[in-house]
Amino acid sequence: MRPKIAAGNWKMNGTAASLAELHSLATGLPENPPQVVICPPSTLLFRATDATHGSPIRIGAQDCHAEDGGAYTGDISASMVADTGASHVILGHSERRDAHRETDADVQAKTCAAWGAGLTAIICIGESEAQRDADQTLDIIGSQLDGSLPDAVDAENTVIAYEPIWAIGTGKVPSIAQIKEVHDFIRTRLIDRFGTEIGNALPLLYGGSVKAANAVEIFAVENVDGALVGGASLKAADFAPIVAAL
Ligand code: PEP
Repeated sequence: MRPKIAAGNWKMNGTAASLAELHSLATGLPENPPQVVICPPSTLLFRATDATHGSPIRIGAQDCHAEDGGAYTGDISASMVADTGASHVILGHSERRDAHRETDADVQAKTCAAWGAGLTAIICIGESEAQRDADQTLDIIGSQLDGSLPDAVDAENTVIAYEPIWAIGTGKVPSIAQIKEVHDFIRTRLIDRFGTEIGNALPLLYGGSVKAANAVEIFAVENVDGALVGGASLKAADFAPIVAAL
C-alpha cells in the first residue's frame, strides 16, 4: 500500500510571517491525514520544523548540493538540511534543471547525498511543451527516470513527481488520459528496472497547476499517489482542500 502524499513547494516565497500558514494548516488537518510535506525556502527551514513540531506536517528543502561541505558559496548540503529537522528534499525541479542547468547526473548525485543524510528525495521529471508537441513525452520521461534515479532506489526514501513543465504555474493541466498515460508508463518503467516490489511501492506524485477544483479528479487516477503543489500550497486555505481530497 503506497502512502498518499500532499507536498507543497513554496519556491522563493515566504518570510517569517508565512509560518502562520503552517499553524493554520496543522490545525485544519483531517483526522487521518495523508503525508503532508511543506518545502519552504531554506531561510525558513529551522523555524518551519519548530513551527510544525508535534504536528504530522513534515518539512522539506527545495534543493541540496551533492557534496557534504566545502567551497560552494550559496549552497546547502543534505546534512545541513537534515540538521534543520527537515525530512525531505525536492531534487531536479524543472526550474533548477532550467535556470541552474542541472542534469540528470546532478540529480542522481544529489539523491545519493540526500539518502546519505537520511532524507527522502522527491525527484522531479517532466517534459516541455515543445517535447510534448513533438510526441517525445514518454522518451523524455524514460530517459530522465533512467538518468536521475540511482540503482539503490528504496521506496522508503524516494518519491517521484511527474511535473509537465508546461503545466507548472500556468493554469494548464494535462487531460486525465495524459496524466494516466505518463503515470502508468513511469510505474512500468520502475517495475522493469527495480522489480515488482520496489517498483510498485514507489509513490508517484502529479504536479502542475493542481488546485482544490481539479484535485479530486486527478487523485482518482490510478498510479497518482498525491501531488506536488506550487502556488496553491502557499496559503493554508488553498492547500487544506487539496490535502482533504487525497
Ligand atoms: C511546482 O512548482 O512544482 C508546481 C507544481 O507549481 P504549480 O502548482 O504552481 O503549478
